This record gives sequence, C-alpha cells and structure tokens, in this order.
Amino acid sequence: MNMETIGVVGAGTMGNGIAQVCAAAGFGVVMVDISTEAVQQGIAAVSISLDRLMKKGKLTGNEKGAIVGRIKGTTSYADLSSADIVIEAATENEAIKLRILKEIDANVDPSTVIATNTSSISITRLAAATRRPEKFIGTHFFNPVPLMELVELVRGLQTSDETQTRVETFVKAIGKTAIVARNSPGFAVNRILCPMINEAIFALQEGLASAEEIDTGMKLGCNQPIGPLALADLIGLDTMLSVMEVFYTNFNDSKYRPAPMLREMVDAGYLGRKSGRGFYSYS
Ligand code: NAD
Repeated sequence: MNMETIGVVGAGTMGNGIAQVCAAAGFGVVMVDISTEAVQQGIAAVSISLDRLMKKGKLTGNEKGAIVGRIKGTTSYADLSSADIVIEAATENEAIKLRILKEIDANVDPSTVIATNTSSISITRLAAATRRPEKFIGTHFFNPVPLMELVELVRGLQTSDETQTRVETFVKAIGKTAIVARNSPGFAVNRILCPMINEAIFALQEGLASAEEIDTGMKLGCNQPIGPLALADLIGLDTMLSVMEVFYTNFNDSKYRPAPMLREMVDAGYLGRKSGRGFYSYS
C-alpha cells in the first residue's frame, strides 16, 4: 500500500521529532496539538533541529525549506483525514490518550493505521478505545528522535500481521530500524534498561563504588556509551521512579522494587539534569 501522509498528534519533544524524520523522508506530515502556540513551538523546534544539521553541512537551506514545508501544523483533527498512519505522541496520561484516540478514529479513513508512542500504557487497552484494534500498534520512538535509530513496535492482543508489516515498511522508509515486542510493561527495551539503572543505584547506595566509578565501569567494561547513573540523570529520576513503580506493581515481583536511594533523591527534588542535580551536579 502506498503511504504519502503521516499524521502526528502532539507537537512536543517526541511529536516534533517524529514529524521531522517523516518530513525528511519525503512524507507529508499533519501535526496536531491543542493550541496554535503548541503547534508553532513544535514547528520552531524542527526548524532549530534542522539548523543544527545545516551548521554541520549535512543539509542545505533549500532542503531545510522543503522539509519544513511538508509539515502542516493544525489544531483540527479533521485535517488528519488524508493520513495513511496517525501516530499519537501526546502527553503520557491514559485519560487524555483515550480521548485523543477516539477523536483520531472518528476523523480518519477506516483503512488508516493508528499508532501510539506511549512508553508505559497498555497497547491493548488503548487499542480498545478505537473501532479498529486490529489496525492499532505501538510505535515507541526514542529520544532524541532524529538521532536514535530504534523504533520498538509493540503489538497489542488484536494487532494484525498486516498492520505490523505496513508499519515495518514505514519505519524502514524513515531510515529507522524496528524491533517487535509484545505488549507488557516497559515493552522490551525499558524492561531491561530500567532495572539495570535501578541496580546501579543499589550499588551506589550500598557503597560498592562511587557514581563516577560505576559509570566508568559500565562504559569501559560493557561498552555502554553513557554510564547508568548519568543516564538516569538524563531520563529524570522522577520518571525512573515511576517506571520502576509500574514494573513493581504490574509484575508484583520484588526484583523490580525501586532503590530506596532513588525514592529519597526524588523526595528531595533531585531529579537529574532538569533540576540541576541528580547523581551529578549540572550548572
Ligand atoms: P511533551 O510533553 O513534550 O509533549 C506532549 C504534547 O502533547 C504537548 O505539546 C501537548 O500540548 C500535547 N497534547 C496534550 N493533549 C493533547 C490533545 N488533546 N491533542 C493534541 N495534543 C495534545 O511529551 P513527550 O515527551 O513528547 O511525550 C509524548 C509521548 O511520547 C508520551 O506518551 C511519552 O510517554 C512518549 N515518550 C517520550 C519519550 C521521551 O523521552 N520524552 C520517549 C519515548 C516515548
């Protein structure tokens, strides 16, 4: 099936990154957000990101103009009517997402695939908000979208093979690589990554080694590009804590208990880079 237009709902961090990579691959993009300001901020973020590529000599001014020109920003869900795939990348809140998905479902063709970029909500449950659960799938992009190669495709209970194949074709067309995971808390990547980071915090708490030594150990000994504690600071310690709480509650397994030190740092307002202090200090 020919795909020409991609809808993106949410013009924030992830939504504008997804819009950028789709437009750069030649797709027309319709990007929806709740206010004109949010839409404009999303398009401005794409423009800044493309300016960086121009400075590195990876893009010409004409190419940048063409990419931005392919993104139509709007506050109207009706503008999604021509989309072949719509990717929901709005705020991580189940009630909001259920409302948005119903709205998308009502405004697009019955053949359109609806995808969600959620990092923690059940794909099967979100699919049930639409009248097309077989044409529904998780497309979990990684941040920053233009730089990260992976898209984790997450099948809900009712996702069809045809939907998976169509979305795999799309992922290839935007120059990314897909892996396919089943619907389960954290999917595949965060299920492995977050407990690893949590264990690094336990190691620090137990005084096995300093934060610098733990991170250097994992970089030089395991070839990780960034140490787990520095990565936790980047992700945000509040986000890390809520992910571990979701795992702990859903699997009901003590191996997912959040490290007490993680909880205490969040209580103190040490959230990582965004608050200026986490396992490291940022000025
Ligand atoms: P964000 O807060 O930067 O952006 C969310 C956007 O959604 C905002 O612009 C907001 O105005 C918009 N929005 C809210 N309600 C809306 C509505 N009814 N209609 C249209 N737009 C609406 O959030 P983000 O970091 O871009 O995250 C988006 C999604 O991607 C979440 O589900 C998140 O879990 C997931 N995700 C985030 C990351 C990350 O590192 N930030 C990584 C992977 C997945």
